[in-house]
Amino acid sequence: MLYIDCPYCGSRGHEEFTYIGDATKKRPDSAEKSDSAWFDYVYLRDNPRGPHLELWHHSLGCREVVKVLRNTLTHEILGAGRPGDEIAMPDAETER
Ligand SMILES: [Zn+2]
Repeated sequence: MLYIDCPYCGSRGHEEFTYIGDATKKRPDSAEKSDSAWFDYVYLRDNPRGPHLELWHHSLGCREVVKVLRNTLTHEILGAGRPGDEIAMPDAETER
């Protein structure tokens, strides 16, 4: 079982959480009129290999959104925090 360290509740099993999506996508400015910028934001996603920042919802707990750093190869949870928190990416050398 994977455990996610919710910043509000502490360590909880991943079955209490719901995956929301990629935490690296930035919403375009509301004045942005370019269709391609909105298309990219809404539909296009990378399929990263290795550490990736994701948003998860603690749906069976505090119901807060949590930012999670997860390795997409091993599913290892490398860090978690509030959505505005900076979570340090591991060095490329330590990943191997
Ligand atoms: Zn929580």
